[in-house]
Amino acid sequence: MIKVGVLELQGNFSMHHKILQNIGIKSVAVKKSSQLIGIDGLVIPGGESTTMSLLIQTFNMYESLVDFGQSHPVLGTCAGLILMSKTTDDKRIKPLGLVDIHIQRNAYGRQIESRTEKIKFNFSNQYQLVLPATIIRAPIIKEMNRNLKVIGIYDNRPVAILSGHHLCLSFHPELNGINIFHRVLFDKECKVYYKNINEHYVA
Ligand code: GLN
Repeated sequence: MIKVGVLELQGNFSMHHKILQNIGIKSVAVKKSSQLIGIDGLVIPGGESTTMSLLIQTFNMYESLVDFGQSHPVLGTCAGLILMSKTTDDKRIKPLGLVDIHIQRNAYGRQIESRTEKIKFNFSNQYQLVLPATIIRAPIIKEMNRNLKVIGIYDNRPVAILSGHHLCLSFHPELNGINIFHRVLFDKECKVYYKNINEHYVA
């Protein structure tokens, strides 16, 4: 059985456990580096990226998260996406540098401007889905390496990016009970399919 960790330093981690369990994946809490041993992938949830970054360094998890992320699937939602990036506009954050993107924090407005939009996702040329995407003080992907696969666009900007075994989302699929992103990245059944997306999707 596939075992996926959810980084539980701060933020909205509980819903990710529910989603993973719903699709038959065992989910475990990751609160320290040793808990990365033996898991097949990791979710970095939404929350407050400055706080999470500080806690990652305080608990000496930075290097082990980078090492783990370089060789395993990682899904980041919102603040999780910020942490996966290479650079951000906020010096307080030390991003893990897993994905070649530059981030501007809080660029979709304040908490009160949170919204749920319908967005079309191109999982492959044959497989597209329109799904609700909830945006809460979300980051903007300001710049990105052209080789990354954009699978969702909102307001003329990428909000879902697949980069090898890394999936970055500006929004919160877990809040709408959407499990396709977790499946695409972690589910053994989807592995072939996911490989297919990387190889054949043309942005
Ligand atoms: N605004 C938060 C940050 O910059 C992210 C918000 C979220 O994860 N929903 O860290």
